[in-house]
Amino acid sequence: MTSQTPAPVDLEKLTALVETLNGADKLETMLSLLTTGLPGLLAADRCSVTLVSDDEKELTIYAPTGILEGITTETGERSDRTQVWRAIRSGELVVFEAQADGPGVEAQLHRAGLRSTALVPLILGSQRLGTINVSSLAPGRFRGAEQKTLHHVAYIVAGSIIQRRMLAAARKAAAVERERAMQLSVLNELATNLTACVRVDDVYRLVLGAVRQVMPKVRRAGFVRFNDELTEFAVVALFDGLISPFTETKPVAGTWLSEVIATGVPMCHSDFADGVHPELQFLAADGLTNGWSVPISQDHHVHGVLCLASTARLDGDVQSIGMISTIGQLMSVTMGRLLAQQHAEKALQTFIDDSPVFIMAVNEDGIVEKVSHYGAKTLGFDAAELLGQPFSCLHPHGYRVDAGLRLRVWARQGEDAMRSFEVMMLRGNGDYQWTRQSGRTVSGVHGKLLTLIACEDIAAVRKLTDELNHQVRHDSLTGLSNRVHFEERLQQVASAAATNGERYAVLFMDIDRFKAVNDSHGHAVGDNLLCEVARRIKSVVRSNDLVARIGGDEFQIVLRDLRELADAFKVADNLRLQLSQPLQLTHQELSIGVSIGVALSDGVNTGPAELIKRADTALYRAKELGRNNVQVFTESLTSRMSRRSLMEQELVRAIHNNELRLQLQPRFRTNDGAMVAVEALVRWQHPEHGLLGPNRFIPLAEESMLVGQITSWVLSQGIRQLGRLHEQWPHLRLGVNVSARELMVNGDLVPRVMGELQAQRMDPASLELEITETALFEDLDAGREVLTRLTDVGIQIALDDFGTGYASLSQLVALPIDTVKIDGSFVSALESDARARSITDTVAQLTANLGIHCVAEGVETPWQAAYLQKIPVDALQGYLLARPLWLDDLLRDGAALEVNSRRLLTGSDRPAAETGAASQGAATPSTQLTDR
Ligand code: C2E
Ligand code: CA
Ligand code: CA
Repeated sequence: MTSQTPAPVDLEKLTALVETLNGADKLETMLSLLTTGLPGLLAADRCSVTLVSDDEKELTIYAPTGILEGITTETGERSDRTQVWRAIRSGELVVFEAQADGPGVEAQLHRAGLRSTALVPLILGSQRLGTINVSSLAPGRFRGAEQKTLHHVAYIVAGSIIQRRMLAAARKAAAVERERAMQLSVLNELATNLTACVRVDDVYRLVLGAVRQVMPKVRRAGFVRFNDELTEFAVVALFDGLISPFTETKPVAGTWLSEVIATGVPMCHSDFADGVHPELQFLAADGLTNGWSVPISQDHHVHGVLCLASTARLDGDVQSIGMISTIGQLMSVTMGRLLAQQHAEKALQTFIDDSPVFIMAVNEDGIVEKVSHYGAKTLGFDAAELLGQPFSCLHPHGYRVDAGLRLRVWARQGEDAMRSFEVMMLRGNGDYQWTRQSGRTVSGVHGKLLTLIACEDIAAVRKLTDELNHQVRHDSLTGLSNRVHFEERLQQVASAAATNGERYAVLFMDIDRFKAVNDSHGHAVGDNLLCEVARRIKSVVRSNDLVARIGGDEFQIVLRDLRELADAFKVADNLRLQLSQPLQLTHQELSIGVSIGVALSDGVNTGPAELIKRADTALYRAKELGRNNVQVFTESLTSRMSRRSLMEQELVRAIHNNELRLQLQPRFRTNDGAMVAVEALVRWQHPEHGLLGPNRFIPLAEESMLVGQITSWVLSQGIRQLGRLHEQWPHLRLGVNVSARELMVNGDLVPRVMGELQAQRMDPASLELEITETALFEDLDAGREVLTRLTDVGIQIALDDFGTGYASLSQLVALPIDTVKIDGSFVSALESDARARSITDTVAQLTANLGIHCVAEGVETPWQAAYLQKIPVDALQGYLLARPLWLDDLLRDGAALEVNSRRLLTGSDRPAAETGAASQGAATPSTQLTDR
């Protein structure tokens, strides 16, 4: 197409062109629209655009269609010879005719026959962008108005290019920013996750995951770990899946790793194939070209190396390097922390494992995390069995909630003093074991809370405490509650009753004549009896009633939940009936009676102490009324309440007021009937009750130790009276009863006796102390000692009531005894009981062999006397020969009694017994005791 004369520029077309250009979204599209649209507008044959690179070294020509379509780039130095450069430099529109030998594109234009060319510079402000080039086959074109149009178009295109460039730059910057932000957020997240990280494996996973996200160029990453000496390494984590991870170790020496360890800073591998590190060449074979080795270390201790490999270059990428070092630092800190924790954990584990005590570590979830082998063994488990078990499950079922609460207490107490609990723990065999658990919650190795619990085996201590507690509250003989426990429990019953209106009764029970059982059968039988009584009481009362032995033969009982108070009496009387049935003891059967006092709760006013007192009062009333009965307390009994203490006071007064009296009962020799001794028997001339026998007050006096004063009185009175008797019977001996308790307990007995003898200038051999065997054999050594001290000074010892207590015949040898008194119960049984005869025979035989005198007491019939004389025993005492007499009566009738007994024992005329009966009459009525 040619055009000799340029047509005027069609403004409408120009406007349309400008609008299409503005509508193009890409620079290339816009240039393409320009180079195809502009020739039509200017009647040109060719149009192209040349753009200058930023550094003004390269030119790019956009000529998509038409003549010289193939030319895209004109490379080469900026040269003034080039018309394009001329236009750009000068900023002026250049019009020229292409020469055949012109530089660059010019020769080509010439060859294509283009005669006129105009280059209009694309310049806006200081920015020189390039040129718009139009050419025509016609010469002399592009003058005048066409140039104006070209300028106009250039101006618009330049503006458009700059606008697009700025937009692209802004877009690129935004994209970079976005990527940067993404990377920062990944790193931030990594930092957060690593802080919470508790396992090394998780660190690898997190780090490698982050690398993949922020450095997509990295195709392969791994983590290398070293042994402690840093001489060997192993790859422990890989993420690319190109090769499978290997765990076998390799020597560090000679590898790139020794360099990394030595420098301690990240190392760049610019080319794996360069042969500097042959061991890395295999990466090049995998298509990876370069990478980084980042040491992970803390405080100069290298934990490992993070290795990255990429196909694209990493070395010049400042941003990547920054991230690599950031990741390396994060990983260093985390690994340092984890390894320190592992170290601490290992130390803790070792400490717990090797501990010779029972230690456990329980985590926040209440699970046993660690336990010492010793501890597991203590409970009869293997450590492995306990690990992972809930702490609470190591306790018996009912105590599991408490175990949980304890963990919370420990967790709360913080740095406060360690708190201990005594608790039961479950043993492997299902038994329980008492332990003291002392715990403290600490911040554990993973930053989690861990409760360390030391458990002490306190089974032995606990057993002892329980036993002691039990002992303090129970009677060791019968196993019943004792007074302390009874009163505690009664108080509880009373308190409860005050609110719930429960009706109850207190029973006070006492075994009738228990002392007699004890004295005649010995303490072993007495104990046996008490146990049997306890058993029987328990079998009668209900299980929630309280039963206690509060001392001696006294029992207290609380009957609970009574429908009506009359029931209390029924139960008490039933109890009495049941207990009066023969009791089967170990070696014999015994029948007893009991007296019971009953006091009823009367609502609110009466306290436990008052109730017990009332029951006691009722009991005394029961005893007064002939024993073996039940009395219920009534107000009228109150006056008698302090009967016992009254009696005590009276006895004190009696001693002081000289109300005690002595009777003397003679003892006669069997072979000639001579009176050889008298036994002093005490009486109490009571101002109201008349003459009381010793059984009425001696037991009471023994309880209060008033008995010592009585003995002293009897001793001095007896010795004085003996002095009188010596005038007629110079060899007469005096027997004085010494209370068993007094003998064993009172250390001053010997000096007291000696004092009395000296005061009356009496030969110690005239005195015979009568002691019951029971007391002696309770503590044989102590008994022997006291007796020896007495016999050493010449005092005689008689074993009283022989046969009723503990003494075995063989034990007689062991004691310094002069006389044995066979108990009256054997004598009275002689006629009817072969066993009594055989025992009496044996005792007489044995004492004869041992050179011990043998005396029979309670001789009442001539037959008994004859039998005893035949065995023979050495002397006789009893109503048959003489009753206990006042001194004056004895002085007066003694000779007659002696004659009588001589006739009875030696005379062939048996009727002498009548004389004995007559002598009984010698005892005046005033001597009759009001014993019953
Ligand atoms: P005992 O030592 O066995 O004294 C003998 C008791 O037998 C006396 O009772 C006496 O009266 C009684 N008796 C004597 N001959 C016969 C007899 O043929 N048939 C019967 N059935 N009884 C006879 P008594 O005086 O009532 O004394 C009872 C007990 O009181 C004494 O038993 C003695 O253990 C104790 N006793 C008496 N006087 C004293 C004393 O001064 N001090 C101490 N500690 N105890 C004393
Ligand atoms: Ca006696
Ligand atoms: Ca006796």
